[in-house]
Amino acid sequence: MAEYVLPELRYDYSALEPHISGRIMELHHDKHHGNYVKGANEVLEKLGEAREKDDLTHLGGLQKALAFNVSGHVLHTLFWQNLSPKAGGRPEGELARAIEGDFGGFERFKRQLTEAASTIMGSGWSALTWEPVAKKLLVAQIYDHQSNINQAGLPIMVLDAWEHAYYLQYENRKTDFFDVVWKVWNWQDIGARFDAVRAANLDVSNAAG
Ligand code: FE
Repeated sequence: MAEYVLPELRYDYSALEPHISGRIMELHHDKHHGNYVKGANEVLEKLGEAREKDDLTHLGGLQKALAFNVSGHVLHTLFWQNLSPKAGGRPEGELARAIEGDFGGFERFKRQLTEAASTIMGSGWSALTWEPVAKKLLVAQIYDHQSNINQAGLPIMVLDAWEHAYYLQYENRKTDFFDVVWKVWNWQDIGARFDAVRAANLDVSNAAG
């Protein structure tokens, strides 16, 4: 039985047009995200077989594939929900106040997240994460799906900077895509995630019990 499942999009492929084309959304969701789900399930199966056979010869490669595919699935699942048609604008309430406090204002946060996406050498993501030890928001610049992250930080808002996220529509003009994506952020979803991560006891220096 499959451990990971490709979630349905909560809007039509074309719902984010003209900012993100329906064809990009269809390929990105069905094929790219779909492959990470498939890859994650395959690697879990291979790990199970390796344990059963007591043969861990290829463990290093399997662990790498596990991190890559599971992280790819998690980030894409988050990305689809972070976006919404007729969204955009700015965050409100607690999230807006935290962004103000941790980044010195919304425009500075926006610039950092966008610049983190633009300056990735190769494939990756930029992300707004909740860091539960210092209890603050940090921007992460993620390589591939799983590298260059600070441990314990949880992503609440992610921006896909892989070429497959924009190339069909924006070609080499990736900064155009990183500008336009600000018109489709679902601040309600991001705000709800911010509330949820703060309510959970995730501080490794102060475990419950
Ligand atoms: Fe992607």
